[in-house]
Amino acid sequence: MSIQSVNPTTNKVIESFTEMTDEQVNEAVEKASDTYESWKKTDYKLRAAILHKVAGSLRDNKEMLAKMITLEMGKLLAHAEGEIKLSAEIFDYYAKNAESFLVDKMLHPTHGDALIRHSPIGVLLGVEPWNFPFYQVARFAAPNIMIGNTILVKHASIVPKCGIAIEEIFKEAGAPVGLYTNLLISGKRASALVADKRIRGVSLTGSEAAGASVASEAGKYLKKSVLELGGSDAFIVLEDADMDKTVEWAVTGRINNNGQCCVASKRFIVVESVADIFLEKFKNKFSELVVGDPMEASTQLGPMSSEAAAELIMAQVEKAVDGGATILMGGKRVKRDGAFIEPTILTNVLPDNPIYYEEIFGPVATFFRVKDEQAAIDLANDSPYGLGGSVFTQDIERGKRVADQIDTGMVFINHPTWTQADLPFGGTKGSGYGRELSELGIEEFVNKKLIRISELSDPF
Ligand code: NAP
Repeated sequence: MSIQSVNPTTNKVIESFTEMTDEQVNEAVEKASDTYESWKKTDYKLRAAILHKVAGSLRDNKEMLAKMITLEMGKLLAHAEGEIKLSAEIFDYYAKNAESFLVDKMLHPTHGDALIRHSPIGVLLGVEPWNFPFYQVARFAAPNIMIGNTILVKHASIVPKCGIAIEEIFKEAGAPVGLYTNLLISGKRASALVADKRIRGVSLTGSEAAGASVASEAGKYLKKSVLELGGSDAFIVLEDADMDKTVEWAVTGRINNNGQCCVASKRFIVVESVADIFLEKFKNKFSELVVGDPMEASTQLGPMSSEAAAELIMAQVEKAVDGGATILMGGKRVKRDGAFIEPTILTNVLPDNPIYYEEIFGPVATFFRVKDEQAAIDLANDSPYGLGGSVFTQDIERGKRVADQIDTGMVFINHPTWTQADLPFGGTKGSGYGRELSELGIEEFVNKKLIRISELSDPF
C-alpha cells in the first residue's frame, strides 16, 4: 500500500511512499534487537555524543525541516521552527542529564546493603502523531536512547517525509544501524507488532482508539505501555482575572497549532459576573484572525492537517448544532482550496449534547457560563479526559487552590499551556497514563533493579 504526503494548504500530493513489507519490518525488528545487545553496554558519553549531534543537526537544518513540517501538516512556519528548536533542546537535555537521573540509588534497608540500578529493558516501539512531528519523537526517543534501549518509530502516515528525515538525522549523527528505525507502516500493523517477543514496551501518542488498541495488545502480551492521548482542557476565567490578557491567551490557547494540540484550551468556562465581557472580547479577537497560507508570516490560522481532519471537525460542528448548540461565529469551511475551516465559537452546549464530552481537534471553542468558582471546577472535571487545564485569576493562591481540585495531569495558572524539556507531561483518565519529559520521563522504560549485598553469615 502507498503512504502519501499531502500538502493540506492545497490538498495536492507532494510524494508517495511504499509501505514496508512484513519481511522488511521483521528485518528492522531483528536489527533493533541485535543492536540492543551492544547498545546496552555502551557508556553514557557515547550515547550523549550522538544525541548532541542530533540536536546540532536539527539546529543547522531548522529552516529546511520547518518547511517540511509546514508542507506536510500545515503548521505555521514560525511555529514549526519553534518546534525544531524545542526538539533540539530535548535531545540536549537528556544527553546532559540522563547519567545523573539514572545513577545508582543507595538504599538503607533494615538489614544489609542494597541499591537500585537503572537498566535498559530492550527494543521499544513508539507510535507517534502528526501534530508535532519532531517534538513528539524527541520526547520518546531521547530518554530511551540514553537509558540504553533501542527504538522503532511508527510515525503518523500523513507525515512520512518528517519520519524519514528524523531517521536520516540519526544516521548522520553516527547512530549504529538499529538504534533508531523509522517504520513506514499503518497503525493497525503497529498494534500487531506489540505481540512480537523482541519488543519489550510501547509508547503511543494519539487518539483514545489507537491508545486502547495498542494498550490492549500490550496487556495481552504483558508489556509496559505509556499512553499520551487526547484532551479537552478547561480554560477557567474567574472574576478577578486580568481580562484583556486572559482573552489574548484564550485565543492563543485555542488556535495554537491550528487548533490541533492535545493540551490546548478547548472548553472556555467563565464565571457569570465576567462572562459577557469575556465572550464579547473573545469573539472580536477570533473574528480578526488572519486565516491563510501557513508559509506566510502574516497568517495566524492555517489549515487542518488534512482534508479528512477538516471534514471530521465540520461533522462535529453539525452534530453539536443538531444536539442544540448555537454557532456564535464561524462554523463553515473557508472558501479556498485546502483543508481550511473558520475559527468557530459554540455556545449552549449542554450535557445532553453528544459533543459535550468530545474533544474537538481544531479551532472550535465551546463557551460555558457558570455561577461561581466551584461550578467552574465541577464543569472542568465533567470530562472523560484529564490532560491539562488552566485557571485565570490575579490571586495566585486561589489559582493553586483551584488547580488542586482539577483532575488532570497538568494545570497552568494564567497561561493556557506550556511544555519544556524539564517539565513532566502527561494525563489522567481518558488522556492516558505515564509521563514524558523531565526526570519522570526517563523512568518509564527502565528496569529499576534491586541489588542486595549480604554478609555470608546473614541468616536466611
Ligand atoms: P491517531 O489516529 O490515534 O494517530 C496517532 C498515531 O497512532 C499515528 O501514528 C497512527 O497511525 C497510529 N494509529 C492509528 N490507529 C492505530 C491503531 N489501531 N493501532 C496502533 N496505532 C494506530 O491520532 P490522530 O487523530 O491523528 O491525532 C490526534 C489525537 O492525538 C488527538 O486526540 C490528540 O489530542 C492526541 N494527541 C495527544 C498528545 C499527548 O501528548 N497527550 C499529543 C499529540 C496528540 P496512522 O497515521 O497510520 O493512522
